[in-house]
Amino acid sequence: MQSSDRVIVVGGGPVGYTAALLLAQQGIPFVLLEAGHVVFDEPRAGTVHPPTLELYASIGAIDRFLDRGFKVHNYQYYDRKQGLVADFDLGVLSELTPFPYRLMLEQHKICYIMQEMLAEFDNVDIRLDHELLEVSQTADGVIATVQTNDGIVTIDGSYIIGCDGGRSKVRKSMDVEFDGFTYPERFLILSTTYDFGQHGYAFTNYIADPEEWFALFKVPGADGSGLWRVVSPVDEIFADDAVQARIQRFRPRDTDYDIVHRNIYNVHQRVASSYRDGRILLAGDAAHINNPLGGMGLNFGVHDVFNLIPRLISVLQGEAGEEVLDLYDRQRRTVAQEYLQRQTIENKNNIELQDPAEREAFYQGMRDTVADADKLVTYLRRVTMIEGFARAASIS
Ligand SMILES: Cc1cc2nc3c(=O)[nH]c(=O)nc-3n(C[C@H](O)[C@H](O)[C@H](O)COP(=O)(O)OP(=O)(O)OC[C@H]3O[C@@H](n4cnc5c(N)ncnc54)[C@H](O)[C@@H]3O)c2cc1C
Repeated sequence: MQSSDRVIVVGGGPVGYTAALLLAQQGIPFVLLEAGHVVFDEPRAGTVHPPTLELYASIGAIDRFLDRGFKVHNYQYYDRKQGLVADFDLGVLSELTPFPYRLMLEQHKICYIMQEMLAEFDNVDIRLDHELLEVSQTADGVIATVQTNDGIVTIDGSYIIGCDGGRSKVRKSMDVEFDGFTYPERFLILSTTYDFGQHGYAFTNYIADPEEWFALFKVPGADGSGLWRVVSPVDEIFADDAVQARIQRFRPRDTDYDIVHRNIYNVHQRVASSYRDGRILLAGDAAHINNPLGGMGLNFGVHDVFNLIPRLISVLQGEAGEEVLDLYDRQRRTVAQEYLQRQTIENKNNIELQDPAEREAFYQGMRDTVADADKLVTYLRRVTMIEGFARAASIS
């Protein structure tokens, strides 16, 4: 096979590494280009939903996931002043999925799992410190212009997949828009060793409040013993005292919290107007970005590449025409718009509802849902992404 037959994957995040493993497992030559020199390990996504676990099970990765992650069998919704509103038992999904839980596993550990599995193959071509600058295409291939430590080089391939995150340079080389909006406030993520579990919190909790909501999760942390993450909206400076004051407002205690990580970031809701421009394709955050409430963005990106890679392989092997790549675009972009965007925007609206009557009606809806087995399954099927995954597959 000529070097130009290889697929270029841009971005060594969880979506890019997953795409690379899917190609390697089918013996398809590829090169993965990553701008950084290590996997980015700051706190970001940490929730893996049931359909994503099923996909990783299908490629032999599930034991590694289950060994390292925390299973969340129930999650809780609170009102910050009233206390617990509803406790959602994910076990009711056991007839729909072999994995009726959310798995808490930090996203960089997904990259590590993919790296370990890639190490079992020959001819794995992963180039760190390779930042894609732009990509162009001809009738039968693509040419990536790449900044390396030794200067600018060009790398050719048959197709290129942009898994290079929200600021994707692959996307910027395409003739597509990235429409949507950016929230005025930013989100703060803190990680602390303080054990919120002693106050009755589940491993995943949403704490609604019209002024200052919180999302609270337990992730494995560096040594697997557990670290609590606290996410909240901010418009204040990122100084030590502001950070302590914030977490103390959530749950006051006599001593300072031990803050292991902190990170502040802008939050957007955007979807690319097309995931395909000829031989250039998009997946993951390069194609869609959203707020983290519900833990959906990363999962959605993984679903993208599990949809795309088999189609691309069938094109490369002459078994299908390029229209299957358009089907990828239709299926995944449609659900990004009608499901991922809608659900995450709704999650954020609900957690900060301003009108007391509306807020009470929302809580009553949740109480009614957990009290009714059918309603609960329907609701959890949606928020654990089983519904969106099935919807994509139904689009022709
Ligand atoms: C600060 C932050 C916090 C977040 N927190 C949460 C959260 O709490 N919960 C949640 O569910 N989701 C969260 N998200 C979203 C979640 O992290 C993403 O959905 C997920 O990372 C998407 O994976 P990806 O592989 O598509 O992109 P990324 O993880 O962004 O990976 C992209 C990779 O491409 C590389 N790259 C970028 N440009 C180039 C280039 N030109 N050339 C080569 N390589 C390049 C980057 O170095 C990176 O390794 C957060 C995102 C951010 C930015």
